[in-house]
Amino acid sequence: MMTGASFDYVIVGGGLQGCLLVHALAHHRPDARVLVIERAPELCGNHTWSFHETDVPPDAWAWLGPLVAFRWPAYRVAFPGMVRRVELGYATVTSDGLREATMPLATGERRPHDGGRCVFRLGEACEILSPTQVRLGDATVFESTAVIDCRGRAGSPAKPAGAGFQAFLGCEYQLTEPWPAAEPTVMDVPKDQADGFEFLYELPFGPHRVLLEYTRFSEAASCDEERAERLISARLSEAGVGSPQLVRREQGCLPMPYAAPDVQSDRVVAGGYAGGWFHAATGYSMPLAIRFAELVASSQPHDLAAAVEAAASQDAARRGFSRFLNRLLFCLVKPQDRWKIFRRFYSVLREDRIARFYSHRFTVADAARIVIGKPPTGLAPLRFAQSFAPLAKPVLP
Ligand SMILES: Cc1cc2nc3c(=O)[nH]c(=O)nc-3n(C[C@H](O)[C@H](O)[C@H](O)COP(=O)(O)OP(=O)(O)OC[C@H]3O[C@@H](n4cnc5c(N)ncnc54)[C@H](O)[C@@H]3O)c2cc1C
Repeated sequence: MMTGASFDYVIVGGGLQGCLLVHALAHHRPDARVLVIERAPELCGNHTWSFHETDVPPDAWAWLGPLVAFRWPAYRVAFPGMVRRVELGYATVTSDGLREATMPLATGERRPHDGGRCVFRLGEACEILSPTQVRLGDATVFESTAVIDCRGRAGSPAKPAGAGFQAFLGCEYQLTEPWPAAEPTVMDVPKDQADGFEFLYELPFGPHRVLLEYTRFSEAASCDEERAERLISARLSEAGVGSPQLVRREQGCLPMPYAAPDVQSDRVVAGGYAGGWFHAATGYSMPLAIRFAELVASSQPHDLAAAVEAAASQDAARRGFSRFLNRLLFCLVKPQDRWKIFRRFYSVLREDRIARFYSHRFTVADAARIVIGKPPTGLAPLRFAQSFAPLAKPVLP
């Protein structure tokens, strides 16, 4: 066994959570010694991570602000029979931007006055041996005051005991004609909703650049690419933008759990998807990943496990409610009716409630407003009681 240097923090996984954490540590603890191990040859993968500006705690803007690639003052949602402009700031961090901002931390370019250091080991998968030790493929073992598991889905239980899926296909285009909208459309829901809730998501990155993403919430863990491409093409034609050039494509599928995760007993601190620091009902990771990064950077490395456990247990009721919403969506409502839940959400909720819901800081009153109503869009008493029965099989058409 070879023994490598010792660190204050070893972060396993250089995706969204790992990189946000590096920036929070660089800001709050410039003297920390940090090692990031990423199995892919590059950090950050190929994603577009959007969020509401109200998701960001005020103290986090100092380090998060420079990572934001695009910001808009509001966004739009469109359902059959309803269109709304939601007056909440919306923003996006891109993989390319996050990678470009993160790599200089290793060379010291961005940290002129620190006594710490940041080291990246890319293209090396890593095994977590204990809360303080990791081993690389070449058998080098690194010691750390705190190992932090940020391996995303690779770090979470292999198969959630119950989950639906959010499957995406995103295409980014360079345009010769200007895009007709300056603000994002977070959900554009077509009339035909036969196979589960589906919508188009639209981010105009500039007059001549747009990301169009097809999303479907269903029991299928994969995207219907043909249908996605057809809907995206139809939107391009409707926008009248000539012959757009495809510059990037991203694809993915996110489980939306409705069963509680297995309790891990090894007490390795875990963030991001691996640690349950994501919004189970929306699929957005940013709000909780930012919160986790702030929490780690404001705790002492030797007290980290207790601090993270305390914060997670404070959030447990909300996490339970988010999973319950997924159960409502996937087990109690027929696929063809699922879109009505989202239309109702945007019809009845004020902006402040929407903001608290997305940021995972909702109150009991917010939660009640979300679910109480006539079925299938809300819960009647019988449905509500049924929802606490042992896990039902997903409702199929
Ligand atoms: C297409 C798509 C669109 C999305 N849009 C949004 C959005 O708009 N907003 C939002 O907030 N969320 C969004 N999400 C969700 C979000 O991308 C994920 O939930 C988020 O990336 C989770 O962050 P993470 O750091 O936990 O995992 P990841 O970002 O997946 O990072 C995990 C990293 O760990 C590495 N790794 C795994 N195993 C090992 C190992 N043994 N050793 C070393 N490295 C390892 C992986 O290579 C990876 O780089 C989207 C997801 C998808 C699929």
